[in-house]
Amino acid sequence: MRCEVLVIGGGPAGLMAAIYLARFRRRVVVIDGGASRAALIPRSHNLPGFPAGLPGGELLARMRRQVEELGVPIVRGTVTALEMGNGDIIASYDGEPIMAQRVMLATGIVDKQTPLADWTSAVRDGELRYCPVCDGFEATGRKIAIIGPLEHAAGKALFMRVYSCDVTLIPVGDERNDARRRELDAAGVRVTPPLHALRRGEGAIVAAFADGSSERFEIVYPAMGADVRSDLAIRLGARHTPDGFLEVDTKQRCGVDGLYGIGDVVTDLHQIAVAFGHAAVAACHAHHSLPMRYAGPSG
Ligand SMILES: Cc1cc2nc3c(=O)[nH]c(=O)nc-3n(C[C@H](O)[C@H](O)[C@H](O)COP(=O)(O)OP(=O)(O)OC[C@H]3O[C@@H](n4cnc5c(N)ncnc54)[C@H](O)[C@@H]3O)c2cc1C
Repeated sequence: MRCEVLVIGGGPAGLMAAIYLARFRRRVVVIDGGASRAALIPRSHNLPGFPAGLPGGELLARMRRQVEELGVPIVRGTVTALEMGNGDIIASYDGEPIMAQRVMLATGIVDKQTPLADWTSAVRDGELRYCPVCDGFEATGRKIAIIGPLEHAAGKALFMRVYSCDVTLIPVGDERNDARRRELDAAGVRVTPPLHALRRGEGAIVAAFADGSSERFEIVYPAMGADVRSDLAIRLGARHTPDGFLEVDTKQRCGVDGLYGIGDVVTDLHQIAVAFGHAAVAACHAHHSLPMRYAGPSG
């Protein structure tokens, strides 16, 4: 199979890139593993044009329909390798090679989980949340906990103090960091003993601590970090941070000819609006970098 642009990943970033590129009349293929973070969003309230909010699954379904109506195939599967060959990038998918002149890597991240069993139903019910920037507003006035290594979790806890006077940090692993503790203390954020276990209670998440005590929280935000699905690009020599986030230039190029990084896989704010912006910039640059195919008299 051969295409002008291969989009790897069918979340908001990849689907937006496909919409732009199809409308530039490019031959585009999307390959998607079907594990978008956006599918976890019970209802997003920061998407422009949807004042009542929109579930993430519905956003993806609408975008997929838009992509398919533009004639772009969305293939379910996983790309397992990328290599350079004769000016193309060759992707391996289900043992088959796909040749593409340009590749958009829109493979996203996977949040590291807390020890809470059945975490997906807690996400669905709005008790477990991952994105203070997205839905902190909807947590206004609630009893909130942030769970994670102190260094990582402190920023999220301070951010959430804007919305609630009852914010607690539950440390996991290394909990020493005197400067951060003073900052949290000054902002009125309590730090508990280290986490022992987590379970769902009625309308709450119950944290049990190493000292034998326990406490209920209405909303818990994990701040455990993430695994970045950037290995396909890194193996080709893409620029990246020590955590694995792709480092891109102003056109979303990551230092490998023809390869663009867009969406959460890039070191940037992990938001749908940002993913859309990355996709628009990368798609326009890719289009202008390819030979133009001018329309004939019949269109
Ligand atoms: C619970 C929750 C709530 C959120 N709420 C909001 C919100 O309200 N507003 C907001 O702006 N953001 C929100 N976010 C963040 C938002 O979901 C992400 O920023 C967005 O999904 C990023 O899009 P993406 O396309 O980069 O990655 P993703 O949506 O994660 O999509 C990546 C896709 O790539 C596929 N893939 C990965 N590797 C391969 C491969 N090798 N081959 C083929 N396919 C592959 C995956 O299967 C997946 O389908 C939320 C996130 C979570 C977890």
